[in-house]
Amino acid sequence: MQFIDLKAQYRALKTDIDANIQTVLDSAQFIGGPQVKELETQLAAFVSRKHCVTCANGTDALQIAYMVAGVGEGDAVFCPDMTFISSTEPAKMFGAASVFCDITPDTYSLCPESLERQIQAVLAEGKLTPKAVVAVDILGNPCDYDAIVPICEKYGLFLIEDAAQSFGASYKGKRACAFGHIATTSFFPAKPLGCYGDGGAIFTDDDEMDALIRSLCVHGKGPGGKYDNIRVGMNSRLDTIQAAVLLPKLKALDDYEIDARQTVVGRYNTAFAGKLQTPFVADGCVSTWAQYAVLAKDTETRDRIIAHLKEKNIPNMVYYPTPQHGLPVFKDEPTYGEVFANANDYCARTFSLPMHPYLEESEQQTVIDAVLEAL
Ligand SMILES: *Cc1c(COP(=O)(O)O)cnc(C)c1O
Repeated sequence: MQFIDLKAQYRALKTDIDANIQTVLDSAQFIGGPQVKELETQLAAFVSRKHCVTCANGTDALQIAYMVAGVGEGDAVFCPDMTFISSTEPAKMFGAASVFCDITPDTYSLCPESLERQIQAVLAEGKLTPKAVVAVDILGNPCDYDAIVPICEKYGLFLIEDAAQSFGASYKGKRACAFGHIATTSFFPAKPLGCYGDGGAIFTDDDEMDALIRSLCVHGKGPGGKYDNIRVGMNSRLDTIQAAVLLPKLKALDDYEIDARQTVVGRYNTAFAGKLQTPFVADGCVSTWAQYAVLAKDTETRDRIIAHLKEKNIPNMVYYPTPQHGLPVFKDEPTYGEVFANANDYCARTFSLPMHPYLEESEQQTVIDAVLEAL
């Protein structure tokens, strides 16, 4: 059994993926081929954004978003305590501070009250300049943008939506990647929309930001092209072959994978109701279920279940074992007395089960039986 079965997906889409890769091989346009432009157009349309710029990976996408926001020395960037390090890594790289905020106990994403407390603490201390907020749609479930956007507006903060885990999700009729001044996503193979290597994308509705992003992705190119360098940028682009792989995968995601993910989660939720804390999705939202994460009643129970799954050769993971404030690299970041009660509690009790749109009912029943046995 696979945690995320990319082979089953490939079997389903093989004809189209193979043909698309062959087209790129025949054209020998490995960088910047027409498939890249086509993908950017389709991605922008899918999430109803004016602009999409593809790039090398989700971490670069975030770094570029930080550069557009102008994050630098003496700035504070607010970020949920429970995420993958990419969300907040660029802050330190640019000499800013990562100010972590607690998560909500139900969606496990950025807690709006903790965010506002942390902003006010930074302002009260008067040392750092509040600059940007990174809202992470953790596990595939969109953040509470109706609460977060007004806070960013109130304090004049640049909002970045980190939708690396949530491509295909939606929040009250808008798709993930539609929020913030800039939204970013990742096409790492295991993400809801993954390619066959590394890839990422950056979304905005703002024409000037789009131009700046395109410049930053190509060594800070100016109007005269890539040898007319007007700023320091990066070399971050999506290979044509990856775009060719993503085109049929985007269609499958839209046609049936998002729905198939809901079916799998529905079966898990029914089986675990009253026995584990199953995931919460707010009214009007659709998660894309990058992970199916449940909470056991305590760490000891969680670890017992994991040990039993291991014995039965059932893949499982812990996303994430350590909240950001507990990582050695962030040991000196200011916390302003925040105790991160929800993030600590989540990390101590969470575990994730096999989750992908091709998970068959019989396979899933094996997983469910093993979890219930351990309980
Ligand atoms: C995977 C991930 C990223 C980074 O994506 P890469 O393409 O692996 O660089 C960023 N943020 C979150 C929340 C992620 O899960």
